[in-house]
Amino acid sequence: MFARFIHTAMLNKLSCILVTAFALLLALPVGAAPRSEHIFIISFDQGAPAGIAKAEMPLFKKMAAQGAHTWEAYTIVPSSTLPSHTSMLTGVGIQKHQILWNDTWTAQKPQLRVPTIFNLAKAANSKAVTAVCTSKQKFELFKARGDIDHFVLLNGGSSISIAQAFARKVAMRKPNVCLIHFGDIDGAGHAYGINSPEKMKAFANSDRALKIIYEAVDKAGIAANSTFIFTADHGCHDIVGRSGKARGVHGSAETADVTIPWVAFGKAVKPGFTITAPVVQYDTAATALWLLDIPIPDGFWGRPVTSAFKTE
Ligand SMILES: [Zn+2]
Ligand SMILES: [Zn+2]
Repeated sequence: MFARFIHTAMLNKLSCILVTAFALLLALPVGAAPRSEHIFIISFDQGAPAGIAKAEMPLFKKMAAQGAHTWEAYTIVPSSTLPSHTSMLTGVGIQKHQILWNDTWTAQKPQLRVPTIFNLAKAANSKAVTAVCTSKQKFELFKARGDIDHFVLLNGGSSISIAQAFARKVAMRKPNVCLIHFGDIDGAGHAYGINSPEKMKAFANSDRALKIIYEAVDKAGIAANSTFIFTADHGCHDIVGRSGKARGVHGSAETADVTIPWVAFGKAVKPGFTITAPVVQYDTAATALWLLDIPIPDGFWGRPVTSAFKTE
């Protein structure tokens, strides 16, 4: 009888300890979880804010209005695709990352010597899943070091085909850091001019692609824990040839070439917020790490765009 009493008393004590421990767990600060678990950076190649303003992109514009945005973010000089994307993904300028080339990737070209958000995410958490979906072969640069779990290259593919491949092959793997790159907008701008019907059609298609991507993320069950960043590698301007035909170019330090959009939507984003702080291409990398609660390494040039996010 006495032994049984002891036993009950011990059980009571044990349950008391368990209840206390559980209460302590509940009382842990919310900050113990990362600000966001899945970061989707969507890069609209040659996606100048002036072009987006003219284009039929209802979903992009709705998400920008409901999220945080600036139409006056700036890319690096030269405002060209691979150097810019390298800054977007490494958090440093071209002087530091030294990816000066912008044509076909080969193993003989200068490779990455600085970390990307992909391998920083993997170094912080070995279970982190990384992905890149692109239509340009030069993005093999980011894959070459072995940091990308899911690399989808549809050489010359449309934004819609990229989005469909993402939906089919990547979304269910629930990537933590993912770059989705729409290259056909750039192709249309180069060939037909930056305000051509062809480029406007490419923009409109990228909006449909955005819908496919968002629905795939939602279907994967991670939309509530996902933050989207929409941006561009560079803007563009027209030059008119002897034939009188316009074609789009970029690469210079002209305002039209270096001005890019920067939109945040989803988890932790301040609703309906206009970003007034300066935003530079390499801030995207810093923001992605900050959202994932991964320490930003010394030597990063980028700073997280903290004003765009809820602080609690
Ligand atoms: Zn580009
Ligand atoms: Zn281009």
